[in-house]
Amino acid sequence: MLKDYPIERLIQPLLEWYPSHARVLPWREDASPYRVWVSEIMLQQTRVEAVKPYFERFLTALPDIASLAQCPQDRLLKLWEGLGYYNRARNMQAAARTVMEEYGGELPADYEALLKLKGIGNYTAGAIASIAYGIPVPAVDGNVLRILMRVSEDDSDIMKQSVKSEAERLLLPVIPKDNAAMLTQAMMELGATVCVPNGEPKCGECPWQKHCLAFAHQSFQSLPRKGKPKPRKIEEKTVLVIRDGEKVLLHRRPKKGLLAGMYEFPNLEGHLSREEVARYVEGLELLPLKIEPLEQAKHIFSHIEWQMTGYMVRVAQLDEADLHKEGYVFAESYVSEEKYAIPAAFSRYTKYMDIHLGIRKE
Ligand code: SF4
Repeated sequence: MLKDYPIERLIQPLLEWYPSHARVLPWREDASPYRVWVSEIMLQQTRVEAVKPYFERFLTALPDIASLAQCPQDRLLKLWEGLGYYNRARNMQAAARTVMEEYGGELPADYEALLKLKGIGNYTAGAIASIAYGIPVPAVDGNVLRILMRVSEDDSDIMKQSVKSEAERLLLPVIPKDNAAMLTQAMMELGATVCVPNGEPKCGECPWQKHCLAFAHQSFQSLPRKGKPKPRKIEEKTVLVIRDGEKVLLHRRPKKGLLAGMYEFPNLEGHLSREEVARYVEGLELLPLKIEPLEQAKHIFSHIEWQMTGYMVRVAQLDEADLHKEGYVFAESYVSEEKYAIPAAFSRYTKYMDIHLGIRKE
């Protein structure tokens, strides 16, 4: 069990291993508090390789907290497009505004104050405080929990908050006061590159091998233990690409909830027939000329799965004056993808926006 394990003996071998094994990552070159924050938020749900180009693009467009705080929401969501989990970006902006108002534009060098900012939990506060400010506090995410559970051969359920809290409590006293930044990064690196989550851990390259109980008993495959996740809720939807020769109808999602404030193709609950779609389009006071089925698509959010079917609906000329429903816009089809942030959930259908004057661009 981790609580009975002499965790302090792990620190020195890890600090000696890290300098020659650290990957070159863009956010490590200049570990300013803002860069650490942006990278850690992006990395929460996305792989390192996928994050790199988004990180560069985001930092070029919004190089500091002031620019993030002032960025129009459409542009912010557009910059985040492709990373998913858009609430991360919205929360970052809310936090950036607080930082401008209360801390003069600098992230506070204080773990507790960081924790009070929107979207910053224990892990992110620990990462910013330790990496950017050298404050000896733990940053425990899934990677760090995995290596700790393996090295101590602890089969507690890592989905439980109490297990994570205990890991933080046990790490706190052993963090070196003068090298907290390196320890945090070294633990992350060991979890990401050696004691990997998928496939066999590379125990032969691991600085903890001689201290590792999971290696000694070859039990690493069953560790860490995760309780059963909640089953995903299945939602059936019918997605409509409603357009004339020039424009496409988009709908802005509500300000709260899943994909808040983003643009989407109009969509309806359930898998609808052509007749049901025609009735819906007429209800928007548009005249459907032709309704063609499109392919099916699936998108998985953390707890919800959308199973989508689609239709292309050609309508008589779209005219803003005819549109009386709130939240809908007619977007020029050939600029829509650049201008409006459309979530990846609809990516299977965005290609149908490129039909300009009846010519489908492949
Ligand atoms: Fe993980 Fe193997 Fe290292 Fe143990 S020895 S911490 S199982 S990589």
